[in-house]
Amino acid sequence: MVLFITGTCHRTCWYCPLSRMRKGHDDVYANEKKISSPDEAIAVAHLMSAMGTGITGGEPLDRRDRVVEYARALKEHFGPDHHIHLYTGTAPSDEDLFALVGLVDEIRLHPPYEEWESILESEFIKSAKQAKELGFDIGIEVPALPGLEKLKPALPYLDFLNINELEWGETNADEMRSRGMEPEDGVHNAVMHAREWAEELRRCEKVHWCSSVFKDSVQLRKRLIRIAENTARPFDEITDDGTVVYGLIEREDNTIPELIRELGDEGYEMTPDGIETAWWILTENAGILDGKKSIIERYPNRGFIVEVTPV
Ligand code: SF4
Repeated sequence: MVLFITGTCHRTCWYCPLSRMRKGHDDVYANEKKISSPDEAIAVAHLMSAMGTGITGGEPLDRRDRVVEYARALKEHFGPDHHIHLYTGTAPSDEDLFALVGLVDEIRLHPPYEEWESILESEFIKSAKQAKELGFDIGIEVPALPGLEKLKPALPYLDFLNINELEWGETNADEMRSRGMEPEDGVHNAVMHAREWAEELRRCEKVHWCSSVFKDSVQLRKRLIRIAENTARPFDEITDDGTVVYGLIEREDNTIPELIRELGDEGYEMTPDGIETAWWILTENAGILDGKKSIIERYPNRGFIVEVTPV
């Protein structure tokens, strides 16, 4: 699960990928759902059978007490094996680290671009050493920018270094353009050349590359499939993309046709939209079922409707 702890952040990275909806707003989201309590985060984690949580922002450590509150609740509920990693753009102080011991397993540091040149003299390496001594897994996670290789001297102090392919977004597009950057194509939000900037570092041990396609498609798809498996009704069909497909009958008098009633409780559901059942029941019996009939494809747990096909 991705737990977005706040949209506020003291830094102003020109490449910041946060959307306008989240940037600067002190809101909490569990995946895409806006929440206001650790119990709601636990419910979302259950929905997708989450095995771990990544805490992000904004700057999570600007709301350290909130991080502690949510991480504690998740660990208490799911047990110590629920892996929690924290992303931060600060070099956590000793006080920060002591507060997180036992609650966060892994810390991913995001040193500012301007500090890459002198990373060994930065507070980030001091933090990394202290974190290691306290038992955290410690790494750096940065977007692919020109000059990535300057981070190479930090590798001996880290367990890993993650590079995320630089992404084009609504809030950073002007900054990208002013630096002569362009999107790779019209379909994905990867930035042209980002892969080349990471080339040298990618050959090093401990370095992991996360492409924007992987983040967009593979991670999202896996999450949707888990949610769909936990929430689909017996007659919903789960697609390879993690969406669900079912049939909808809308009738003015809201009566249930005999043929549908015979399917039993597991074969249909009355919802505010109408009578919902397996999509193939509609296509196979289109001639004898009265009412407006359509096949609906949507994100699981009554998420966004992707497609409506009239039958
Ligand atoms: S540290 Fe992260 S959230 Fe803050 S401005 Fe930079 S990229 Fe955005």
